Amino acid sequence: MSDARCARCDRPFPSSIATTYSPNHVCRSCAERPPSYTRAWTLYPYLPPLQHAIRLFKYHGKVSLAAPLAALMIARLPPLNSVDVIIPVPLHIQKLREREFNQSLLLADHIVRHLDIPVAYTNLVRTAPTPAQTTLSRKSRLKNLRRAFAVRRPDAIVNKRILLIDDVFTTGTTVNECAKALRRAGSADVFAITLSRTMDTDTVPDRILAQRPYFF
Ligand SMILES: [Zn+2]
Repeated sequence: MSDARCARCDRPFPSSIATTYSPNHVCRSCAERPPSYTRAWTLYPYLPPLQHAIRLFKYHGKVSLAAPLAALMIARLPPLNSVDVIIPVPLHIQKLREREFNQSLLLADHIVRHLDIPVAYTNLVRTAPTPAQTTLSRKSRLKNLRRAFAVRRPDAIVNKRILLIDDVFTTGTTVNECAKALRRAGSADVFAITLSRTMDTDTVPDRILAQRPYFF
């Protein structure tokens, strides 16, 4: 494992060789099926204790964790000078009623204040309810999410560069489907920042585990 990552989806490469001579090298998956987003940044590995904090925040209603979790994101934000609008990844209304809050929106709220970029909370909507994704294969996830997002007011995002905010990046399907809906509605480049990325823990070196953020 190295600091080298895919220039499109931010997937860590096993060694830095891939990017030594071509810093814009993309992973095989992005080369074969280029995503609809221009660039995704996945800021931290989804590992304890951050993983525990995200679960508490998301599934146990500890909304006070929004501020420290957003602070972790702000600490690692890439340069975002060209972004016109920030959009948190939306929840389906049914999920929103169950959970009573959208975790991505709470994170985005802090990031918006930090960056001073306008936010659109209601323009991108999730039109199809999706089952918990963690138990599904990649193919089933894709099927579940296809056309699950819609833009209510395309005129508001036409030619705008958009930054999506989400909490966890697993396969990237969610942010990619959001980006697809936005591009279809006429947006310019779509970028995505997620707080964390799920990892195959067998391949996570001790160095990364040692860098994990603590805030308890
Ligand atoms: Zn990639």
